Amino acid sequence: MTTTVLISGAGIAGPALAFWLHKRGFAPTVVERAPALREGGSAVDFRGEQMALLERMGILEDVRARETAMGAQVIVDTRGKKVAQMPSVFFSGEVEIERGDLTRILYDHTKDHVEYVFGDYITGLDERSDGVEVSFAHGEARGFDLVVGADGLHSGVRRLAFGEEERFRTDLGLHTAGFTAPNHLGLDHLGRLCSVPGRTVMVASGRDRSALNVSFVFASGPLEVGRRDVEAQKKALAERYADFGWEVPALLESLGGADALYFDSVSQIHLDRWSQGRVVLLGDAAWCAGPGGSGTGLAMMGAYVLAGELAAAHGDHEVAFARYEEKMRGPIKVSQKQAAGIGTFLAPQTRFMVGYRNFLYRVLGSKPMTRVFTWLTSRAANAATLEDYDAPVAARG
Ligand SMILES: Cc1cc2nc3c(=O)[nH]c(=O)nc-3n(C[C@H](O)[C@H](O)[C@H](O)COP(=O)(O)OP(=O)(O)OC[C@H]3O[C@@H](n4cnc5c(N)ncnc54)[C@H](O)[C@@H]3O)c2cc1C
Repeated sequence: MTTTVLISGAGIAGPALAFWLHKRGFAPTVVERAPALREGGSAVDFRGEQMALLERMGILEDVRARETAMGAQVIVDTRGKKVAQMPSVFFSGEVEIERGDLTRILYDHTKDHVEYVFGDYITGLDERSDGVEVSFAHGEARGFDLVVGADGLHSGVRRLAFGEEERFRTDLGLHTAGFTAPNHLGLDHLGRLCSVPGRTVMVASGRDRSALNVSFVFASGPLEVGRRDVEAQKKALAERYADFGWEVPALLESLGGADALYFDSVSQIHLDRWSQGRVVLLGDAAWCAGPGGSGTGLAMMGAYVLAGELAAAHGDHEVAFARYEEKMRGPIKVSQKQAAGIGTFLAPQTRFMVGYRNFLYRVLGSKPMTRVFTWLTSRAANAATLEDYDAPVAARG
């Protein structure tokens, strides 16, 4: 009988896993809490080994067709004066695409073979010897052989199977927000980054020249802002950035009318194990690293490994989950270590640190340093190597 797998979350990890599970003969169902695919978010990039994964999935051409083709990122001061320039490989990797375009590609490549249920979420997991009885907020209860939590940093599956989020979440002392604004700066495949102590603004315009992708990153402790309260989030941002200067007043005006806002703490998730019986976690739900940790590529790599190991173990989930974890732990350690130090770069806390960060960018952005720089920024992406699950077992080792 075909093994049925319920995946919670239609972000990046969920549809990527559905893609590979279908290819390997499983029957995946994806349940997504939002009423439709969530296409927001800033650009995500792929480097090194992850390029081979896109190729193996057969989506590299689609990704290239929608790539941002971003050029240099120019660091400016609050008067708009250039202080450093970074080559595109630092922020944009070998290929960069809007997160929303990527999730759409993954969905389009799976929707004909995979059952997607939008506007619902899991409320209970009752594990039995032969499967898991799953209850939903809206739909009828159903039985599945396996359940995967690919539902992001604030995973509902993790809470049900492992415990409250606070036990596993480490906040890195930053918040990030992203939205789209009209391209009033006229940027053409270019980005700008401006920091004052504790606050940074990044803007970039790539494939769609009429739009600016805006990201705010700021240092802060926990905020009393509801996770789904977009109006309160907009207000918090407007207050925090009111006296920033540079182009921020125009950006805040656009924020008021923005339809979608991504707003979250920059946090990591650390768990001793990623599976519990027939339930397993993937992507941010299991190991969120934060910006700079190559999280999107590693979520997709994890999906590839999880589906590959399930097929290799002929559905023996205990063996497969153990091998998946064994293979992904090392790369995730590299990713989390790399992302943990990102605060100094994203939102330096003092004037001295802003100046020091800009100095480092100038040095690292210079031609002789390009190779060092490329190595530094590709470490997390290359930490997971692409195993060939279609090769005979002996050849895989
Ligand atoms: C709309 C959006 C915008 C983002 N923008 C950025 C950004 O600008 N910068 C950045 O660093 N990271 C951003 N991220 C996070 C980034 O996508 C992930 O770090 C990374 O790609 C790993 O993907 P993931 O699939 O594990 O998690 P995610 O991409 O976060 O996907 C998780 C999915 O699960 C869904 N979900 C959540 N709870 C439940 C539930 N209880 N039941 C069912 N479904 C649920 C979510 O709606 C989402 O679709 C964004 C995520 C989203 C959803």
